[in-house]
Amino acid sequence: MRVAICLLGLLACAPTACAATNSFAIRDVRVFDGDRTIENANVVVEAGRIAKVGFHVTIPAHLRIIDGRGKTLLPGLIDSHVHVFPGAQADALRFGVTTELDMFDISRNFKRWTAQRVRLARTNEADTWAAGLGVTVRGGAPLQDAPPWLHVPTLKSAADARKFVDARVREGSDYIKLFIETLSEYHTRKTLPTLTPAEVCAVIAAAHADHRLAIVHTQAEWAAREAINCGADALAHMIPDRVVGAHFIALAKQRHIFIESTDDVWAAVSGLGIAQKLARDPRVAPYLSAAQKSTLLAKDKKTVRWLFPNVLANTRALHAAGIPIVAGTDSPNPGTAHGVALHEELQILVKAGFTPQEALHAATALPDAIFHLGRRGHVTPGYRADLLLVRGNPIRNIADTLSIDRIWMNGYAVSRTPENHERAVNHRTGSQRAPSRHGDSRSATLQDRPKLPRAQSGS
Ligand SMILES: [Zn+2]
Repeated sequence: MRVAICLLGLLACAPTACAATNSFAIRDVRVFDGDRTIENANVVVEAGRIAKVGFHVTIPAHLRIIDGRGKTLLPGLIDSHVHVFPGAQADALRFGVTTELDMFDISRNFKRWTAQRVRLARTNEADTWAAGLGVTVRGGAPLQDAPPWLHVPTLKSAADARKFVDARVREGSDYIKLFIETLSEYHTRKTLPTLTPAEVCAVIAAAHADHRLAIVHTQAEWAAREAINCGADALAHMIPDRVVGAHFIALAKQRHIFIESTDDVWAAVSGLGIAQKLARDPRVAPYLSAAQKSTLLAKDKKTVRWLFPNVLANTRALHAAGIPIVAGTDSPNPGTAHGVALHEELQILVKAGFTPQEALHAATALPDAIFHLGRRGHVTPGYRADLLLVRGNPIRNIADTLSIDRIWMNGYAVSRTPENHERAVNHRTGSQRAPSRHGDSRSATLQDRPKLPRAQSGS
């Protein structure tokens, strides 16, 4: 079909050349441009960037044309909370996630990631922004179970904060991630060591001095309040330990924080089985790599059913109050997987009271506005042609994002055939180590949702 369309569009364009270029047009398509929906639009892409969008746009004669009738064109999706490992960005891209924001990794492959995201070259991987090493204390989350060979630097004191953060910025951290985690909300006898309030404030001040956002991991409301009072810019997770009250919402609003949702990971911890159902969906199953299947189907040994209702209520209340919430998945934690989990996250956000359009905004234009991602997340002239074409209308039915027709990255069509990555996957934790295709041979993912303690109230 592509051959026929190509020949209609341009007699001089041989089929192989058609597939090889990053210029094309889509005719008569519904467009969600990151903010609003345009019906029956024509979209022109030239040399990897969006050139024109609109009802009256004329398509240049030399371009191949794709029929968009019955379909919806979306910006490539942005997952605002992941942990990358070799192969992860390819897994993401096969599901239309064209940009990933890593929230802690030890590989710190900044040079390659930065080079890729400013180019418009053909690639089979999503672009990456990254925190690199997060700020935690010795033995604290997420390093409590780290293997001894890692030797990850940790913060020694508040006085050490400036030096520590400066080192991360020199390495290439796009933002600074902090961990406040004791597990005390689970009423266990043993709690984890964590940053003191003075250290949290000092690290956030150092991040701001280096013009970096300070993003705080916590799963406890008390710690979220502490972080916000210290000037944190964001919470890395929706708060799960309790339903937050009016005072918390007022504080979040007054301090202009934003939140990375990661509701899907709490759904998995609560044993809802959404990810398992997703893995069986015929729109999903054929495109999953071994790693995606493994993490999507992985289960926590214990389920904590009371977490997800709190998360859903907090998402609803904070969104209703106007707190910006960007869509994130915390992949590849158990019950999640790079790329596909973001589609689940969009469905959960709608369940929590977002309109489908608001959910899509949270995975496109909103993270672009917050993280300054360099002209992505929109179907707008001048922006990168990272695009997702789906059958149906996700503005009415958000699950239609799974009916993927085509994906483009930098204007080039993306293959949906999963590669067979040679990976060692730890089925129990979902953490992964992989031989490197990119030189980061000791790369590993450490989950920043800490392992839950054995005895949990309400579980
Ligand atoms: Zn995480």
